[in-house]
Amino acid sequence: MADTKRPVSPAAEEILGLYFPLLDHGFVSLVDYMGTDECIERAARVSYGHGTRKRSQTRGLLRYLRRHKHTTPSEMVELKFHCCMPMFVARQWIRHRTANVNELSGRYSLIPMLFYTPEAAQLQTQSRQNNQGRSGEVVAASVHAEAVRRWNEIRRASAEAYDWMTAGEVARELARIDLPLSTYTQWYWKIDLHNLLHFLTLRVDAHAQWEIQEYGRVMAGMLKRVAPLSYEAWIDYDVCGAHLSRMEMEALGALVAVEGGGLRSQPGVVLDAQVLAAGGLSNREVEELLRKLSRSSTPPPDFDLDLRTAKPADYFAERFAAAVPRVDRPPPEG
Ligand SMILES: Cc1cc2nc3c(=O)[nH]c(=O)nc-3n(C[C@H](O)[C@H](O)[C@H](O)COP(=O)(O)OP(=O)(O)OC[C@H]3O[C@@H](n4cnc5c(N)ncnc54)[C@H](O)[C@@H]3O)c2cc1C
Repeated sequence: MADTKRPVSPAAEEILGLYFPLLDHGFVSLVDYMGTDECIERAARVSYGHGTRKRSQTRGLLRYLRRHKHTTPSEMVELKFHCCMPMFVARQWIRHRTANVNELSGRYSLIPMLFYTPEAAQLQTQSRQNNQGRSGEVVAASVHAEAVRRWNEIRRASAEAYDWMTAGEVARELARIDLPLSTYTQWYWKIDLHNLLHFLTLRVDAHAQWEIQEYGRVMAGMLKRVAPLSYEAWIDYDVCGAHLSRMEMEALGALVAVEGGGLRSQPGVVLDAQVLAAGGLSNREVEELLRKLSRSSTPPPDFDLDLRTAKPADYFAERFAAAVPRVDRPPPEG
């Protein structure tokens, strides 16, 4: 590797340009990054070049900044990803407006005929608690088999129509309009660390759709290698931490008192649902408070990348080239 004066993170260098497979045809790769944890500290202090600060001092500062939402220093670090995902995932992802995006052009290029098929474990019934999600209960194997058969039928018809139109005179920008949302697209996506943490907080959360969570988890693993101290603070204060409302603070204040530089439990105090409701918490807020507190017994996620799954760029380039309609394929050799 050429010598560089840039701050680098050895763990991030190790994965640069590796492609991590996701779902059945997708991937995420960390293409490049600018800056490390130390750069955030230097920006926060507006200091002159590399200092001699101890790692523990850097860690303390970064955690302070995160706790107090002093976020602009973390905008000094940037990460650039190459991502490939089904269009319905891309549609959720693109709502994050603070990234720079360049997507594969379906007006210019032929779109590979690759479609996402959920595995049996993911095909679940509609949740009754959360209208936006799945329940955790897998549908019968026969329902999965029939759904896959129907999806394949639609995809075959869509792919054939696309193939026929693009092989003829029809412009690609219109030939594509009936491709299903399961079709894979791809983009380069660059974002600063502050906004990446916001994206990841929302998208590794259990309320996000499982498919985009999968991408969030891998990207969190990449971030862990670029800026491990920022990652650690994010896990502690955002992923495993929680915001408390006035009513929640009052409820917890009835259980524990601040005393002698510590906390003292109030003996015999029990807050049942009725007491919590009397304190102004709606049923839903009570449920959410209990969920927040039950998280304290769950070990923090580690989001470590499994390097054994990583592929070289060519692996995906070849698969995608083989999946575009015939007109764009190179002629067979010989
Ligand atoms: C579980 C879940 C369910 C969702 N369901 C729906 C849904 O049903 N329908 C739907 O339409 N969307 C839905 N969304 C998308 C959601 O409403 C947000 O659009 C998306 O999460 C992006 O969040 P954001 O705007 O905070 O992020 P970003 O666009 O990345 O912005 C980051 C932050 O920058 C600031 N910012 C950016 N742009 C502006 C601006 N123009 N003005 C002021 N501040 C700005 C805000 O502080 C914002 O939080 C859902 C998201 C999640 C996670």
